[in-house]
Amino acid sequence: VRGVVVVSGGLDSLVLHDWLQAEGHDLITVRFHYGSRHDAAEARSAHELYPYLTTVDLMLPSGGSALMSKDVPLPEGRYDDPSMRSTVVPFRNGVMLAFAVAYAEAVGAQRVWYGAHAGDHAIYPDCRRGFVRALSRAARLGTYGKVVVEAPFARMTKAAIVRAGARLGRPCVLRMAKTWSCYAGGDRPCGVCGTCVERDEAFAEAGVVDGPLAHYV
Ligand SMILES: [Zn+2]
Repeated sequence: VRGVVVVSGGLDSLVLHDWLQAEGHDLITVRFHYGSRHDAAEARSAHELYPYLTTVDLMLPSGGSALMSKDVPLPEGRYDDPSMRSTVVPFRNGVMLAFAVAYAEAVGAQRVWYGAHAGDHAIYPDCRRGFVRALSRAARLGTYGKVVVEAPFARMTKAAIVRAGARLGRPCVLRMAKTWSCYAGGDRPCGVCGTCVERDEAFAEAGVVDGPLAHYV
């Protein structure tokens, strides 16, 4: 199937991309640049990971999100509800996916895939399954039934995604290690923000070593 896969430079979308590719789909890889504090770091990873990458510039309202403004402190340590909420960017995935549907229709693709997973559900309303279903219905209705939106990892935890990547073999393990998760957006992951902590826990739980010595234990 020909489809648009929305990637960030992060872990979930990398495994999604490689898994779809292994399934034999014809992928158009699209990334959104939307003014977050970790945009540049994610972009570095994305350009290294995806040779054919379409980058789309969006201007999103920040809504006081810690992800968008250096004036709002990034939550550190393991996420809880209030700290994760401070990283929500208003309707971000809704805007990106709507654009991706338009793009898919324009290039004759039948699917839009994105990497929402079970760990995102609690706080991010635009990562929940009900949202994906509703958006997919809107996409079908708005494209003469031509484009469907799917989030194949919607029921998986981040650790399950790391395991899925490891099952794709060593090339994917090495590619996972090159993805960027940290919301702080420096030259190296900060190791203390909620997303760094979540990533470390997911790799540990999956039994996969992250970083330059990446391998499957
Ligand atoms: Zn970090």
